[in-house]
Amino acid sequence: MRAVVLVAPGDVQVLTVPDPEIMDPGDAIVRVRQSAICGADLFPFHGLTPGFENGTVLGHEFVGEVVATGTAVDRIQIGQRVVATSTISDGVCDHCLRGRPSQCRGRSLFGYSGVYPRLDGGQAELVRVPIADRVLLVLDDAVSDEAAVFLADVLPTGYGALKRAGTTLGDVVVIVGCGPVGLMAVMCAMRLAVNVIAVDTVPERRNLAERLGARAVSPEGSSALVDELTNGLGADVVVEAAGTPGGLTQALGLVRGRGVVSVVGAHFEPDYPLDNGHMFEREISLVFTIGDPFNDRARLLDLMRNGVLDPTVVVSHRMPLEKAAAGYALFDSRNATKVVLDCSL
Ligand SMILES: [Zn+2]
Repeated sequence: MRAVVLVAPGDVQVLTVPDPEIMDPGDAIVRVRQSAICGADLFPFHGLTPGFENGTVLGHEFVGEVVATGTAVDRIQIGQRVVATSTISDGVCDHCLRGRPSQCRGRSLFGYSGVYPRLDGGQAELVRVPIADRVLLVLDDAVSDEAAVFLADVLPTGYGALKRAGTTLGDVVVIVGCGPVGLMAVMCAMRLAVNVIAVDTVPERRNLAERLGARAVSPEGSSALVDELTNGLGADVVVEAAGTPGGLTQALGLVRGRGVVSVVGAHFEPDYPLDNGHMFEREISLVFTIGDPFNDRARLLDLMRNGVLDPTVVVSHRMPLEKAAAGYALFDSRNATKVVLDCSL
């Protein structure tokens, strides 16, 4: 099959690799229809993921059709159209049994290795899905492939940032970083907050945030706008979706006393200079969220089916699987907001 492989940092190629096979009775094989490039894919692309195994097939956001199932697969059937959770979880460990699948002791992320055990991803014609009965969600015709791709990761993650922050009706919410996850947080926050302020350096991303209903501002202007809208108090909730040390520092500076900074940007820097004196004096809570598609995707799917949420507005580029290297270059240079690959060759 054809697949997007990280040959070495900075070197993404579409290669012919062996077709995946059922390795465990709980596995399914999915023929991928659409697969998206995620900001998290850029960390191994830049060699920033310690222990990443070169040769891994990338991609943890994909929708496709089930073409084979192992003997222990019970709920999922061949022919069904499905979306996977970006991170697999076993459903039986202490974390899973207590409702925390994102911390599953047996977790792994499609298309990643190093941080997690290797599991080849879905930017490919075919992908092996372990624990298929748990990982796959069956889709019906009310939702398109392109919309359903967002249920794998970015929509539950953007929503999860608000949920973990305890966002309530009438809050002032700031989103720092308007990539796909940040824009999903904007979209969800618009249903709750009295004011949503979107911060990004890129004018096109600020325009998208405005189309979703937010007040958009550059990083330089964010402090003045938050002060103006909160009488100088600061924001109730600040979502850090930039995944940069600078973004985190800015988020910590925009939150009110006893407010919450909710981080969904991926961070791997071990030496971030956290100002604990500032955090203590202002009683700031800092939470990190990976996102919980397993628990949140069904309700988010219902909101999409009823027309409340339309995540596809952030898709800027649609291209065939063979053009994936160009897609990575566009996304990495911030000339693309969200790239969706058509994998049905
Ligand atoms: Zn588990």
